[in-house]
Amino acid sequence: MATPLSSAAAPRAYEAVIGLEVHAQLLTRTKAFCACATSFGDPPNTHTCPVCLGLPGALPVLNGEAVRMAASAALALGCALQPSSVFARKNYFYPDLPKGYQISQFDLPLALDGALEIDAGAEGESARRRVGIRRVHMEEDAGKNLHGMGGSSLVDLNRAGTPLIEIVGEPDLRSGAEAVEYLKRLREILMFIGVNDGNLEQGSFRCDANVSVRPVGEEKLGTRTELKNINSFRFVAEAIDLEYRRQIALIERGDRVRQQTRGYNAEKKETYLLRDKENEAGYRYFPEPDLPPLVIDEVLAIALRAALPELPEVKRRRFTEGLGLTPYAASVMTGHPRIAAFFEEAALLHGDPVKVANLVQAEVLRDTRTAGLLATFPVRPGQVVALLRLVDEGTISGKQAKEVYAAVAGTDRDPAEIVKEKGMAVMTDAGAIERIAAEVIAANAKQAAAYRAGKTALLGFFVGQIMKQTGGSASPAVVNEVLQRLLGGA
Ligand code: ADP
Ligand code: MG
Ligand code: ZN
Repeated sequence: MATPLSSAAAPRAYEAVIGLEVHAQLLTRTKAFCACATSFGDPPNTHTCPVCLGLPGALPVLNGEAVRMAASAALALGCALQPSSVFARKNYFYPDLPKGYQISQFDLPLALDGALEIDAGAEGESARRRVGIRRVHMEEDAGKNLHGMGGSSLVDLNRAGTPLIEIVGEPDLRSGAEAVEYLKRLREILMFIGVNDGNLEQGSFRCDANVSVRPVGEEKLGTRTELKNINSFRFVAEAIDLEYRRQIALIERGDRVRQQTRGYNAEKKETYLLRDKENEAGYRYFPEPDLPPLVIDEVLAIALRAALPELPEVKRRRFTEGLGLTPYAASVMTGHPRIAAFFEEAALLHGDPVKVANLVQAEVLRDTRTAGLLATFPVRPGQVVALLRLVDEGTISGKQAKEVYAAVAGTDRDPAEIVKEKGMAVMTDAGAIERIAAEVIAANAKQAAAYRAGKTALLGFFVGQIMKQTGGSASPAVVNEVLQRLLGGA
């Protein structure tokens, strides 16, 4: 939250104003303007060609898959696709940018005016807030500089030319926590529509945070700083909140905030100056002469909109309102697109979504591993359903289900096989239990008399004896019913 400074330190309260710029790599097979494969972790400079190396005379060809993914993302964010958008050269020199310019979009971007809803409630309450999205545009990624030992630096151009979308948010966020909430919702949408793998560590989803402060009640925006390349949600929140306090301290001591690009040192817990911010004019943007305007016709726009999958927010609402899950369970079941698919398949097969969600939370997710858009599960949805059915039918108890789960996890085995093999089936045959109960009562006549005289706490003793006789397999419900009948208790 925008914690107002204590009145002793500051007579005025300031609010933080935050606008995020997110760069997300599109999961195309090939680069934005050439046929080189996009890849992560391959030997340096094994995915390059004259186009992405920026050799003279090489011409870019726009990747249609990248356009479809970028446009889908823009639509999922509620943006208006522009019928025609224009690529532009953003000129700057950097060793990982061999052309000397980045192909981006400038005054005529792919899409405008979207929004994202976030939960911006103070602790305990829930309040939905709309955060504006100013624009979504396409651009290409740069390569990577590798700074080695002994002061040498190397350049890997495998990433050069990887398609990106930049999502420019309105300055509608008011705290580090809100910024993280926005990032999580944004990342989730991109992952659910399958255009980005959401990997902050590897930099395929990255965020620059613009931060300014202003006195509460003031409309005019303060001068902002831009926090660059922070690679975890926690650090984004920390850096923003620290920057907010740093700016207030500057103003309170009569100084002013300078427009700067700053980094975040997570160890020292401070932001530090990277450079005074270059302005747009410095990039000498001009329309890319080697690419025609990008025209997205109405037919493609309609087809892309129709092909959008159910978005995570809608899914959560359906899981709570339609399937009866708690909001918490619904958020866990939508924690990853593959988890949602797993849950939905099992819920559909079994018919009781709440039971399925409970088992998925209690057991399955413990050993589920996600990596980007992929996930590996310890069991198949069908095994979850078969296990739940055994419990539903009273064949095994909830406690035995845990044991059966442990035995099928990591295998392709049928839970029923395990039950048979371990001789686990719950004994529900009332006649058989009654015979055992009668023997137990006869053998413990003193306790039976005491029970009948009112010492009903002895019921547990009899239950224990029967469980011992049946190796723990008797159904507790049946045992209780039989004992109360035979002992004539309450
Ligand atoms: P530039 O083109 O120089 O990057 P923009 O005006 O396009 O600047 O804004 C970029 C980002 O900065 C947007 O996400 C926007 O919300 C945010 N932003 C702009 N002004 C402010 C401000 N005063 N305080 C916080 N964020 C801001
Ligand atoms: Mg910008
Ligand atoms: Zn290439």
